[in-house]
Amino acid sequence: MTDRLIEDARIVSATGVREGSIAIDDGQIRAVGPDVASEYGDATDVIDAAGKIALPGVVDIHNHLHDPDLFPTDIDFASQTASAAAGGVTTVVELPTQSPITSPDAFRKKRDECAELAHIDFGLVAGNVEEADIDVEGIMAEGTRDFKTFTAEPYLASDETIVSLMDAVGNAGGKVRVHCETQGILDHARASIDEGTPDVYMESRPLEAELDAINRMGWFAEYAECPLHVVHVSSGSGAREGGRFKSRSNVPVTLETCPHYLAFSAEDVDEKGPFLKVNPSLKSPEEVDRLWDAVRDGTIDLVASEHFPTNREDREHGWENIWEPYAGLPSIETMLEFLVSAGVHEDRLSWTRLHELVCSRPAREAGIYPRKGSLQEGADADIVLVREDQYTVSADDLQYVGGWTPYEGREWSARVDTVIANGDVIASDHEVRSSPGRGEFLSRP
Ligand SMILES: [Zn+2]
Repeated sequence: MTDRLIEDARIVSATGVREGSIAIDDGQIRAVGPDVASEYGDATDVIDAAGKIALPGVVDIHNHLHDPDLFPTDIDFASQTASAAAGGVTTVVELPTQSPITSPDAFRKKRDECAELAHIDFGLVAGNVEEADIDVEGIMAEGTRDFKTFTAEPYLASDETIVSLMDAVGNAGGKVRVHCETQGILDHARASIDEGTPDVYMESRPLEAELDAINRMGWFAEYAECPLHVVHVSSGSGAREGGRFKSRSNVPVTLETCPHYLAFSAEDVDEKGPFLKVNPSLKSPEEVDRLWDAVRDGTIDLVASEHFPTNREDREHGWENIWEPYAGLPSIETMLEFLVSAGVHEDRLSWTRLHELVCSRPAREAGIYPRKGSLQEGADADIVLVREDQYTVSADDLQYVGGWTPYEGREWSARVDTVIANGDVIASDHEVRSSPGRGEFLSRP
């Protein structure tokens, strides 16, 4: 007998949306299609999904979930992967925050710590690389292919370091991910600002810092023959700058953006203040519109949450002094609901484009497709059911433990209903039912 049947969903695939059912056995998808319900009707558990959308569980390849030396005690890989699960994310690829992962030992230690706490399957990225003399092949042998580095503080790497890292990683078959803002422009902009009110923060991180850095990293990658992933592109102009390299480069270039760069512009900072402090900074409404265009037309390859957890009290100080709190926004639990509500339901994205942006493309990028990011037969049974309901966003309704969301008060039209990972129901209506340690490390050699 089959373990579980998801009956009568609107199933999203790479080619369209079709009514059908999904049969699950031993943690994998056994069958999917319009006739599956009659064939597998005797399943042990039947989930009535009438009217609901079924997508592959979201694969989020940029987030910060675990750093015991930085985050408060209740913010760790357990609480943050629980928040991910509640939002329909069933796989994460996590990045270093303040504690560098630049040796095989450090990588193993973090992998083992996270494996004990993980609610969902996970991979890890190495970084933050500030010196080029690291054991690239040794780190890759532990199960990653990605290395993160920065053109800006606080992990500023010199141009020569970035080129050397790209050379080594390119030779070893990996990929370098770069935070693109040019420090010289940031320094110059910051030097002329005396105030500490939230509105000046955007002036301290001008658009041109991003454009210059994306452009230079494109040439660095081409010179060093290393695949490049530009994290968190914050502007439509930045996407256009990176897009030039996608069409002419001798190496693959991928561009990522994040929900907050599509949801907010610099004009929202009057109201939200420090709760929109993020790097790169928010840009003008015109840049937000252009960024949506780039997401729609394929210039942007994928959307990732860039989840960065902090507590509400730590953020509040930023109203008096915006330079004080950490930059970054909690967003892993709200990403899918935002993209459906503001993307699909506002006719900016099709369901299939959404599927590509947060499921199939990031899974390919992470080297785990089609096991993750697809609803094909034989794939892991990672499935999210979405309910099309009207509601007002409130941090009180989220699993996230930090007590705030930048989306507070927004009116949305899609709610994550049921989340299944490896065949188990791990969350319903933002209530998490799994336990820490359920998720497994995904080696991505
Ligand atoms: Zn990040």
